[in-house]
Amino acid sequence: FSPEIHRSFARSLGEDIVYEKLEVPLGGFDEFVDDLIEKGYKGCNITLPFKVDACKYADRLTERARSCGAANTLVFGSKVTGDNTDGAGFIADVTGRLGFEIEGASILVLGAGGGVRGLLPSLLELNPKWIAVANRTMSRAAALAESFGIDAVPYEETAAESFDLVINATSTSLSNMAPPVPRSVLAEASLAYDLVYAAEPTPFMQLAMEAGAGAVADGLGMLVEQAAESYLDWRGVRPDTSGTYREIRRLIEERARGA
Ligand code: NAP
Repeated sequence: FSPEIHRSFARSLGEDIVYEKLEVPLGGFDEFVDDLIEKGYKGCNITLPFKVDACKYADRLTERARSCGAANTLVFGSKVTGDNTDGAGFIADVTGRLGFEIEGASILVLGAGGGVRGLLPSLLELNPKWIAVANRTMSRAAALAESFGIDAVPYEETAAESFDLVINATSTSLSNMAPPVPRSVLAEASLAYDLVYAAEPTPFMQLAMEAGAGAVADGLGMLVEQAAESYLDWRGVRPDTSGTYREIRRLIEERARGA
């Protein structure tokens, strides 16, 4: 939905932009971006599996791209700047639209992939009480915990703790499954947030609602907010996101109905 999101931002600001989806051949990232610059593009977003290539391509990195080792935004100028807007997008959605306070909160992150690396620097900046990470492959959780100075906890041991915010950063929702987090953990959470977005509540959100979590949310808000941060990088203005959020939510529902 990124082209639709950026078109919506541009419309709301009265700007005239072109944002399109382009497929990059595996192993051909650098030549592809060289060509974009040559053609006069002003920048690009990068998605999996090229976020690390983008980091290497950039002449300089923002602190948030450097600390997670991945870039989702490149800005072309006399130098190429690499940025990572995922963490800021997540924070804007959770603290802004959802009104959740990170400072002093106990946070459980499920999953230890690239998405989590993008989130952790932004979460840590806001001084949560503590962050624990649980993952199917425990060694990946342990490696992540070590590099960010947080705790790794096996899924089955999370029930012994209490968390205000539980973030599903696994890809389980894409296979219509929920991660193996105990219901009691979700029952105590004031917010259960799935990075995946969908027309219907994801299996993780359903589990959290049944368990009695205070609130549940999917990752559409994060997607829209990280896009707004990228727009700011390229155009120097951060679009208002509320109208675009509603528009894209409607679009997702229409597409799911086949409308
Ligand atoms: P990734 O690097 O592929 O990591 C996937 C994670 O899911 C790993 O921790 C993996 O555990 C875990 N996992 C997969 N299948 C599982 C299962 N059956 N049971 C338990 N754990 C399982 O993916 P990523 O880049 O971190 O992204 C994670 C999700 O976030 C994706 O679905 C992505 O679409 C979403 N995302 C959304 C936004 C947004 O803007 N809303 C931004 C970024 C990412 P192992 O380590 O054991 O394999």
